Amino acid sequence: MGFENILKKYFDKTFTEIEFVKRTYEALEQLGFNNENTIAGKCICRDEISQSIRSVIKHMWGEAFNFSSLAGMFFAGKTGLAAAMHHAPIENGKERYVFYAMPHIAINEKGRIGVCKREGRAGESTACGALYAFQKEMANGKVNLTMDNEDVEQSLIRMRLLREIPYGHVPDLLELTKTTLKAIQADIETTINNVVDTGKSNYAVITGIQINGPDSNYVWPAACYAVVTGEKITLNI
Ligand SMILES: [Zn+2]
Repeated sequence: MGFENILKKYFDKTFTEIEFVKRTYEALEQLGFNNENTIAGKCICRDEISQSIRSVIKHMWGEAFNFSSLAGMFFAGKTGLAAAMHHAPIENGKERYVFYAMPHIAINEKGRIGVCKREGRAGESTACGALYAFQKEMANGKVNLTMDNEDVEQSLIRMRLLREIPYGHVPDLLELTKTTLKAIQADIETTINNVVDTGKSNYAVITGIQINGPDSNYVWPAACYAVVTGEKITLNI
């Protein structure tokens, strides 16, 4: 079975990273966003296998503000978002931002979820490793809910995601990745609502799941929309 067919088993629609970023750029261009007047932000996992989309975003939009934490969680908060906004160009009195946010999940050539190969390492590796570790803890019935100051981001992941998971339920890695996406989107939107003045700023939120395939990465698009002079417009990706 070709990898395209494996992808179809889990995701109804996927693009290569280049296709995905290009399509979002073209859709946003029609709404007045471009690489000269817009600052991009990205919120993806720290994992090096996730970084390829950074180069694509840079190629289309220029250097992007980095909101990233483990698992692609949005922990940069109001301070992080306000900083990015103060860096945005101002054209005709308006600032423009586009936020790319996505967790990631590996799928290997046999269709196994969460499994990937790492260059120079024999055997199998996992991605997203942070979500995989948290999923294992839930499956084993032991989740440490304290803030470990020597493991800050992973502690925050547990605390934040457990708010989205029904008590006692143990999601598999794919479900947990979708839950993570929902949390990232909600946290970005809450922060935007607190910080962004839509009278002064137009912005776009581009979300999805990055899929680490055996040879390259793909994106399953989720919520993709722009807010232009306060009006929400869904992007046709
Ligand atoms: Zn990860």
